[in-house]
Amino acid sequence: MNLSDNITTLKGIGEKSAALFHKLNIYTLEDLIRHYPRDYEEYASPVGIRFAERDCIQSLRVTIKKVESIKRVRNLQILNVLAGDSENSIVLTWFNMPYLKNKLRSGEHMIIRGIPFLKNGRLTMEQPELFTEKEYEGKQGQLLPKYALTKGLTSNAIMKAVRQVLDSKVLEKEFLPANIRKEYELAEYNYAVSTIHFPNCMDDLVFARKRLVFDEFFLFILSLRYLKETTEKIKNDFTFSKQNITLNLLEQLPFKLTNAQLRAFEDVKENMNSEYVMNRLIQGDVGSGKTIVAALALCLASENGYQGAMMAPTEVLARQHYEYFVELKEKYQLPIHPILLTGSMTAKEKRTVRERIELGMADIIIGTHTLFQESVIYKNLALVITDEQHRFGVRQREMLMEKGTCPHVLVMSATPIPRTLAIIIYGDLDISVIDELPSNRIPIKNCVVDTSYREKAYQFITKEVYGGHQVYVICPMVEESENMEAENVIDYAKMLQTKLPSDITISYLHGKMKAKEKNDIMERFAANEIQVLVSTTVIEVGVNVPNATVMMVENAECFGLAQLHQLRGRVGRGGNQSYCIFVNGSSKKDTKKRLDILNKSNDGFFISSEDLKLRGPGDLFGFRQSGILEFKIGDIFTDAAILQNASDAASIFSDKEIMKKAEYSELNKKLELYLQNDLNSLSL
Ligand code: ADP
Ligand code: MG
Repeated sequence: MNLSDNITTLKGIGEKSAALFHKLNIYTLEDLIRHYPRDYEEYASPVGIRFAERDCIQSLRVTIKKVESIKRVRNLQILNVLAGDSENSIVLTWFNMPYLKNKLRSGEHMIIRGIPFLKNGRLTMEQPELFTEKEYEGKQGQLLPKYALTKGLTSNAIMKAVRQVLDSKVLEKEFLPANIRKEYELAEYNYAVSTIHFPNCMDDLVFARKRLVFDEFFLFILSLRYLKETTEKIKNDFTFSKQNITLNLLEQLPFKLTNAQLRAFEDVKENMNSEYVMNRLIQGDVGSGKTIVAALALCLASENGYQGAMMAPTEVLARQHYEYFVELKEKYQLPIHPILLTGSMTAKEKRTVRERIELGMADIIIGTHTLFQESVIYKNLALVITDEQHRFGVRQREMLMEKGTCPHVLVMSATPIPRTLAIIIYGDLDISVIDELPSNRIPIKNCVVDTSYREKAYQFITKEVYGGHQVYVICPMVEESENMEAENVIDYAKMLQTKLPSDITISYLHGKMKAKEKNDIMERFAANEIQVLVSTTVIEVGVNVPNATVMMVENAECFGLAQLHQLRGRVGRGGNQSYCIFVNGSSKKDTKKRLDILNKSNDGFFISSEDLKLRGPGDLFGFRQSGILEFKIGDIFTDAAILQNASDAASIFSDKEIMKKAEYSELNKKLELYLQNDLNSLSL
């Protein structure tokens, strides 16, 4: 067995289940063992019913009181069982498991494990796991891995596959130098990998995880260093001597740029005129006005006879930017030629666009990742901007270099991270921070409410719509299946139709829709033909409809705070008072406390630091859904100390010659692989 082998070499994985693994980007055995658990389940000590916390997984010690006869409802066979202890009772319900009826006897003591909730005023648990005391003892204290899944593939199936690989003992060579491992107290690599999947206890898990997090940060930082060396040397052959048109545009804008925006634009101009090509990050909270800075830079490129390209993570966002440029061009009679290139265009349309790019008939080119496909040839590309985007990848850079262009690069991000971390994470980039919101902003009014507030919220939404405004409603993601997520959104939109007056147009948006449909919906929303948009988080990044004043987030407890802050950033973008309603569907105290942070502040930096304070060591894996700055396993906030260690350790290699020493050959190999495969897939 070899780690580069195909997963079909494992017992029990044929073509069919391999296809499911592929959906999770698992092709080889190595991919498989690097599919780390996203969480662990613990079989905690069982408690009596009166200690049961509602709406989260609990193990309860009960006695079976009464086994009812099986009921049939449509095609369901329902078994209800009454269980209890000396003081309290709970209804247990199983669907389509009629054989359990004969296994359960009144008077028997059992441990049940599941999520207790109130149904018709009674404590209920559906589909609980069932154990005898003895069976449960065997499980207690164990940490079982929970993996990111896809429909048709269970955690159990992944667990079995991982076990096979680990049992076969194909070992990887240790690549970290011994002195580094010793200094930062890091586990051996193979031990760390097997322990992250099957830890014996929390302490082992923490130790194993530390090693893998360290690796991830360390390789990342080393590769940045490598990038910086390669990019810094690139001479700037472009001349940006003209700026009248751009400055004129700046004068005519309906608003004055904030000082922070002006500073960022000055930084950009200075870089573009300097000796080496630009590599700059503009960091600014949602709504701080990054787009206009990008627009000015692109205008400057155009004015000087060059092309500039701007890449967005989604078609919706790309189209929005494109339309913004068309509007600028018309409104201010600018001599610019914007063009849009996206994946959903027909082959014929794409061909025409590519031709115009190659001939230089278009000079501001907006699109998705399609912008850097091989078939696109630029006439004279001088500037590349990525908005809310994955780090401008090494591959993309190389691809451009092969075509003979080394443009200036500008990266825009709303990720709220402290400057010290930013310097490590974006070590290859210069940083401009836009730390000031436009002065016309009225702070958003927030509220965190429970589900009983919904009816009132709908009345409020109606009022806002009748006042001429628009509304987003976000449905939570459904973890295991995108199809269910779509259903969820569609159902919610239907339900809302019955709650709101019929002259309000409601529509919906979800990840499963075709790009063209999504664009169409967003365009109609932007034109106020749709007043209420029910959506998944696909609208999370960058969307700008200033007329929208209400953001209602269902099941806000399911989201990370940073993500909620991003969502909130979709409103409050115009001069109108805007509102954010976070509906908390959980009765847990911690959740309320966490959401209240959003209530208190509209500042992204403050929120992420408070979020951090609330996370205890037990939350190692609990908050990994923030959707920003996601490493595979490391979390720059909770693992800030390890990040610092990795940064210190990497400084040993500040001289590239050192890396050539024989003792670092394994590390060198690993780094090469990392640069080729991993760096591009990080969403930073
Ligand atoms: P983000 O930084 O989140 O990308 P945008 O660039 O989309 O924010 O800007 C949000 C809104 O603020 C847009 O409607 C934009 O036109 C407006 N805006 C940008 N700069 C200013 C400013 N200095 N004064 C007033 N409004 C501004
Ligand atoms: Mg933006």
